[in-house]
This record gives sequence, C-alpha cells and structure tokens, in this order.
Amino acid sequence: MNDNYLSELNEPQRAAVMHINGPLMIVAGAGSGKTKVLTTRIAHLLRNGVDAFNILSLTFTNKAAKEMKERVERILGSSEARNLYIGTFHSVFARLLRAEATKLGYPSDFTIYDSDDAKSVIKTILHELNLDDKHYKPNLVYGRISAAKNNLMSPEEYKHDHAIQQEDMRANRPMIGHIYEAYAKRCFKNGAMDFDDLLYKMYLLLKHFPEVLHKYQHKFKYIMIDEYQDTNPAQYEIIKLLGAAHENICVVGDDAQSIYSFRGATIQNILQFEKDYEDTKVVKLEQNYRSTKSILNVANEVIGNNKGQIEKALWTDNIEGEKIKLVRTMTDNEEGKFVADTIAEQKLRNHYNNRDFCILYRTNAQSRSFEESLRRMNIAYRIFGGISFYQRKEIKDFLSYLRVVSNTRDEENIKRIINYPIRGIGKTTIEKTMVLANDQDIPFWEVLVRAREFGFKGGTLEAIDGFVTMIQSFQAMVQQQHNAYDIAIAVGKSTGIVKELFNDKTTEGLARYENIQELLNSIKEFTETPTEDGELLEKSLGTYLQQISLLTDADNGSDENSDVVKLMTIHAAKGLEFPVVFNVGLEESLFPSSMSINTREELEEERRLFYVAVTRAKTRLFISYANSRYRFGNLVQNEPSRFLDEMPEKYIDRSYAGGGVRNAFGGSNSGWGNSNNMFDRKKTVVTQPPTATGVRSTPKPMPVVSTHVPSPNFTPDDPATMEAGMEVEHQKFGFGTITAMEGASHNRIATVVFPKAGGEKKIMLNYAKLMIT
Ligand code: ATP
Ligand code: MG
Repeated sequence: MNDNYLSELNEPQRAAVMHINGPLMIVAGAGSGKTKVLTTRIAHLLRNGVDAFNILSLTFTNKAAKEMKERVERILGSSEARNLYIGTFHSVFARLLRAEATKLGYPSDFTIYDSDDAKSVIKTILHELNLDDKHYKPNLVYGRISAAKNNLMSPEEYKHDHAIQQEDMRANRPMIGHIYEAYAKRCFKNGAMDFDDLLYKMYLLLKHFPEVLHKYQHKFKYIMIDEYQDTNPAQYEIIKLLGAAHENICVVGDDAQSIYSFRGATIQNILQFEKDYEDTKVVKLEQNYRSTKSILNVANEVIGNNKGQIEKALWTDNIEGEKIKLVRTMTDNEEGKFVADTIAEQKLRNHYNNRDFCILYRTNAQSRSFEESLRRMNIAYRIFGGISFYQRKEIKDFLSYLRVVSNTRDEENIKRIINYPIRGIGKTTIEKTMVLANDQDIPFWEVLVRAREFGFKGGTLEAIDGFVTMIQSFQAMVQQQHNAYDIAIAVGKSTGIVKELFNDKTTEGLARYENIQELLNSIKEFTETPTEDGELLEKSLGTYLQQISLLTDADNGSDENSDVVKLMTIHAAKGLEFPVVFNVGLEESLFPSSMSINTREELEEERRLFYVAVTRAKTRLFISYANSRYRFGNLVQNEPSRFLDEMPEKYIDRSYAGGGVRNAFGGSNSGWGNSNNMFDRKKTVVTQPPTATGVRSTPKPMPVVSTHVPSPNFTPDDPATMEAGMEVEHQKFGFGTITAMEGASHNRIATVVFPKAGGEKKIMLNYAKLMIT
C-alpha cells in the first residue's frame, strides 16, 4: 500500500480524511479535491481497521464509480477494493434488492425494465383501460409515475393526494393514478422493476422490514456520498434510514454544481444536513488543484452572478495558463469544423492524445456537427451518456423511410417502418408477406404492391395500399428531381412522424423531436451547401444517402480507456476532468436553454451548469458559439449567450484564429478560422466595410480549381454593393450578368447568367468570389 496518501493532501483535506467517526459534510467548490478526499478517506478507513465490507460509497454516474474504484485501487495497490460497495445509487440498490427481493414478493432474478420496456407496459395498460394513448401519452404517464416514485409516493397515496389530483384534473388526465396502480401491479406480476423502483422499493424494503434495515445499518457502518447536492427525496430518505444507527455519514457536495433540480433534487439537502445530524463536522475546501488560474477565475466570476450561494473563495496555486479562447463561427457546421481542426492542431502542437479532449454541449442533439467533422478528420471519438446521433431510434426510423424511397428492395428497412407510425399492419401480415415473397421469389415490396392479387383484404389491404401509395408519391418526387430536403420534409409530413413527435411534450419526446429537426436541418444544409465554386446544385436523395451511409459505418470505439475524444452533455460530465475542454453552443436560447430562462431559479441552474462546464478543464478551455445554426428547419441567427458577457475580459482571448493543422508548422491560416473573428463583437479585425445592417459577408477563401483564368487584378467585391443588372466576373465561370439578388445581407444569393459556362447559375456570395467589372 502506498503510505504517502496523507502527505498528498492539504490541511483541511487531511482533516476530513482523518475524521473517522461521526457525521461529516464537505462543502467545496469544483476541483478542490472532494472526490479525492472521499477516495482517500476510504483508503484511510481501511488502514485504520475498518473492514471493506462495511463501507458503502455512492456516486452519481457509473463513470464516476469506476473512476473512484480505480483511485482507491491506486492508493491501496491491492484487490481489497473489490469488497467495497462502490457504485451508483441504482446499481448498488439493484444488488441489495436482488438479495432481498423475495421479501417484497419479487423473484430474486427480477427483470429491470428500461424506459422503453416501461412505456410499452403503459401502452398495454392504456389499451386495457380503454384510454386514448394520444391523450395519455405513454411518455408523459411514465414521467408522472417516475416523479411519484422519486417522491416516495405509492399509487394509493397518489390517488388520494388532493393537490396531485387537482393537477391531473386540470390537465384533463384524471386517470393517471389508476394507470399508476395498474402499472405497478403489472410490473409486480411480471416480476419486474423499473429504474425508479430500484430506489422506491429499496426505501419500502428498509421501511417495512426492520430486520432488513437493521442488517444493512450494521453492514454499512460507513457511508459516503459524492455529489450530495443532487440527491433526490428517495435517495435522501434511504441514506437517512441506512445511516441512522451509526451516523457515520460523510457527504460531499457543491451547491454551485447543483444541476438536477428538474429531477427533484434540491440543494436543501446540503443545508438540511447539519440539522439532520447533530455534531456534524463541516469542512470547507478552498484550494482548486484542477484548473489554471485563468479557467478558475472565469468560473468564479460567472458563478458570482448567482444569488444565494454558500460563500466560498476558491483559489489555485496552479499556473495562470493560457487565456480562454472564445471563438465565434458562422454556422454550427463550422463550429464542428473548428473543434475538429483545433483538436488536430493541439495534438501536433502540444502532443495531446485524443483522450485528452472533451467536447461538452447542452443537449445531445448538438453532437451531430462534431461527429461529422471528427469523422471527416479521422479522429476517433465516443459519445458518452447518449447514443451516437445516427444510432438513435428516431433517426434510424426516419432514415429507413428515405432508404426505402431510394431502394424498395431493402426489405429490412421496409419492415422497420411498415407499421411505424402505427397503421395497422401487424406481425401476421408481415410474416405472410415474407412467405409470399419467398414462395414467388419476388421482392417483399412487390408483394405489397400486388397485395390485392395476393388475397389481402379489408383493413389490412387498405393499410398496405396506403403505405405503398405514400412511398410511391415520394418516389415520384425523386423522379421530378426534387432535392433530398424536399423529400425528407414530405416524408416527415405525410407519415405523421414529425407531428407525432411534436405533440409529445415530455422531455424525451422533445429530445426526439429536436433530433428529427436536427436531421432535417442537416439535410437542408447538405442541399444548400454550394460546391467550391459557390454554385448551388440540386442535391439528390441518392447522393445524400450515400454520404450518410459512409458516416454511419464508422466505428465508435467501445473501451472507456481507449484513445478517443469524448463527447457528452454537461450533465454527464459532472465530477470529471480533462486537459482540454470545448464548451460549445454558447448561444442564447440554446445555453441558457430557452426553456429555462423564465425564472431566476431556472436561469441560476443554467449558470451552475455553465460553471460545471468551465470547471471540467484543467489546462486549456475553448468556448465557441455559432452566428447561426439550423434549428427547427430554419437558419436561426443566434445572440451570443449572456454567460459570455459575464466572463472577465482579462482572461479571454478573442483573437484565436481557429485550428488549422498548417498553423502548427507556423504556416498561414487556413482562412476560415480568421473569418470567425471578423464577427467578433469586441475585437474586430476589419477587412471589409460593414454592410448596411452591420453584418459583413465573408467571401470564403477557396481552393482555386479554375477553368477560367481570372483577370490579373481579380479582387472580389463586397456582395453588399451588388445588384441586378451588374456585370461581374467569377473565378471559374468567367464573365456574366446578375439577373436577380435574393436573401438577407449575410446570406446573399445572386442569379447570374454566364454565357460561357452554361447559362444561369445561383451563386452564394458568402462562398464565391465575384468581381464587378
Ligand atoms: P468536482 O467538483 O468537479 O467533483 P472535486 O472537488 O471532486 O471536483 P477532485 O476531482 O477530487 O475534485 O480533484 C480535482 C483534481 O485535483 C484531481 O485531479 C485531484 O487529483 C487533484 N487534487 C485534489 N487534491 C489535491 C492535492 N491536495 N494535491 C494535488 N492534487 C490534488
Ligand atoms: Mg468530484
């Protein structure tokens, strides 16, 4: 065993570690060694004769649990760590419940339902109760049941709680209590527990079986909880029960990092702790060991805007470090490109590995542009706490439609969507179709097209015909040379998918809807991105699908320790640290989220989230935001996030020119990086006069692959000064005449007739260089 573990600590840390018996609360800021203290304390307890079997340590994520185990192993250098109970609330309680399940009438190998399983049970129940699942959306019902359980409320209590009943009546959903009751019965009958049951049943077990409570109170003589600020009422009560006998409870938390109040967690837990346990020893840690001075000062200053924080003065002895690079890009795709380029550059310049980088975003839907640019750059990455964008069910379903439109021989994809959204084509019909296709040796699709001939009747025939006609109508659009986006929009509308997701107002439903919008946005962007010459080509569905298939084939990597760039939401990054962090999408309505700016409480939670994001960085921090991004089908102009204004100017570098690998060798910039900063609010590199609206258009430098040899003094003109009737010169197409101008100032499109280059072309002036002749 490594004996130096105590000497590695500062004074208050050591005091916390050496406090063995009695309640202990450590309230401290980010990166001050809270988790290190917990971990070291476990080692110290073991050194002082405490049996590993008597220690319970609860964390918030599997990742944190794993990291903690590894840290303990590093200190102990033995396999003793294996006997400890270290894990998430859910994983530890699942283990305990397995041992005790029969007491609650469950089999010891009870099934654990994930949210999809749970919702399909709810659907069955709705059906049996004759309730409309459009009104009683399974997602919504599941959310209500989940909240009830996390607040330790039984179906009976739910049904008799006046306030809740009023609320359900107001929402015109008076039957939720009954559904909860039926759902609980069904799960019990099936021998299954859902995620929330793992907490709720644990509580019931301890509450109703004194001998079980006694047993675990004496087993877990020492209890430790990381991220205590985010425990919900169920977790809080369980801890209280378990710790009641010995009161050897040690909790660590940071009120400034409380980011789960939407799930019922409350920082009251921290404030309540001293009241719950007399003689609580309170330790404050104020030295941050993680981050550079620049990073920490920015974090401190921003969180200072929150009222009602516990007073803390977090400081660090670490070096000042580089300033925080604040970068504005034109679009979300450019933001993706900026991050991927910068990673490539930093790897070369500062010898980082992929694993040293982490990209943090506010919502999972933002991962797409980073995934695409990282793939393009051949940089291995992995998404944590969410599935890869193109692997998500709703995305796969949607792409299945497009694939079927493009190729009706694709039986797998037809089967995937033939009854999605539900249109009454059941398993039997699908099986019959497969048999017929086999017998007749014709494609599955052909059987559907000739359904009447093959003896399908009534409602089934109608449903099949409807499906076939719909797919054929999309195919007609392909024939008429509609672009991929038009077809995708038609698919979204005609199938009813977009509407169905739109109507689902639960958090998950909203996320799915946003994902589909994000997919549609990316298709729109694909169709609108001009070729290098600035020419707008019609982009076909076939070309799009080909591009997407190449993307989805990429290997995602599975080992957590593998050398990959990590992508995750800020929520998932709690407690973690990385040498280089990218905080992306710092735009109003995205971060802070438009759903969380209506009250001071909501806004403060968003700010705490930003504080968490900033404090994940050890050495280098990049913060980016896009001038515009596609959201909900439209190119949206974004204001920079208000949090950016709260960062002290002193520690901010706004002149970063973007990562281009070439930069690392001292060469010139790749060009687009520079243009980012031309849009900077405070430090402006003026290379062009502003347009009437104050927004400058930036001709994007392009590789010159020209057939036309431009005039020797070819310098592109400011698009703002162009209008119909003007004679212009294009680098590739030669001379032409503008016949029309359209689009906003930042997005000007000129229609130009080039007599020597095939006539009329649409030219995006942001991308192409035109010179007035
Ligand atoms: P968070 O609030 O993000 O959960 P934390 O308070 O749990 O952070 P830790 O993750 O425990 O902080 O520690 C942050 C970093 O500082 C870790 O890399 C840790 O090893 C290091 N550290 C903590 N205390 C010391 C110390 N006394 N000497 C050197 N390094 C330390
Ligand atoms: Mg921690």
